[in-house]
Amino acid sequence: RWIFMNGKYVRKEEATVSVFDHGFLYGDGVFEGIRVYDGNVFRLREHVQRLYDSAKSILLNIPYSQEEMEQAVVEAVRKNGLRDAYIRLVVSRGVGDLSLNPNSCVEPNVIIIVDQVKLFDKELFDKGIKIITVPTRRNVPDALDPKIKSLNYLNNILVRIEANRAGAAEALMLNSDGYVAEGSGDNIFIVKNGKLLTPPGYVGALEGITRQAIIELAEKLGYDVREEPFTRHDVYVATEVFLTGTAAEVIPVVEVDGRSIANGTPGPISKHLMQEFHKLVKVDGAK
Ligand code: PLP
Repeated sequence: RWIFMNGKYVRKEEATVSVFDHGFLYGDGVFEGIRVYDGNVFRLREHVQRLYDSAKSILLNIPYSQEEMEQAVVEAVRKNGLRDAYIRLVVSRGVGDLSLNPNSCVEPNVIIIVDQVKLFDKELFDKGIKIITVPTRRNVPDALDPKIKSLNYLNNILVRIEANRAGAAEALMLNSDGYVAEGSGDNIFIVKNGKLLTPPGYVGALEGITRQAIIELAEKLGYDVREEPFTRHDVYVATEVFLTGTAAEVIPVVEVDGRSIANGTPGPISKHLMQEFHKLVKVDGAK
């Protein structure tokens, strides 16, 4: 494996950052996770745009243009010779002193890792997963805006821990008003009265790139898709539930907090969208 570090390629074993990097000390930085399908980087432009938007919001200046960053990602994929891969793009505030003042950080660290990812076992995509809701709340826009994909993932990690402890594959966070926000690393869709619903951005979720791809795909296929807030009750009584994300792709949910969804097997709309999503990722990428 070759890791891109600030314009140079270093071997995986030698790809290290300083303990004085504020990404390590404070979670001060931003990141993206991106998939490569059959040599195509899926929605690269959108991921790079979100990375730069996150960076802008936290006043982190990335020393490359967006085009240069896109090229660097494509080059890193080529250099690693992988046709199917997961890319982790990280920009940290860089090395500084022990104060949290970012002024002491001279330049950011820009890192591109090309590797593999496996979030759920293969069979779960056919059978569907069991999830729970947890007391940990999604941070709301008056704190760190959920639209910023920052290196501060402790909230999401706590949610994963709660899911693990309950023997669930994933968990949903609610926002402070009790509306369903998202999973620890994925967005949610439900089917209600034949319509597809997903929480709008203002509820407090990352605006997932897979979520957007599914909205567009579903509309193209003739489904009625709405961005509308909903509660846990709406999830329990939904006829279908599924999650979307770069790592999760589209995965059906068959049980939520012990309530089985419809008859406890993946529903037709979820299956249809999974199939169509797999077709889309093969053709809709940057070489
Ligand atoms: N929500 C959170 C908190 C995430 O970390 C992710 C993963 O990136 C998602 C949702 C799904 O977003 P995307 O489809 O862009 O991967």
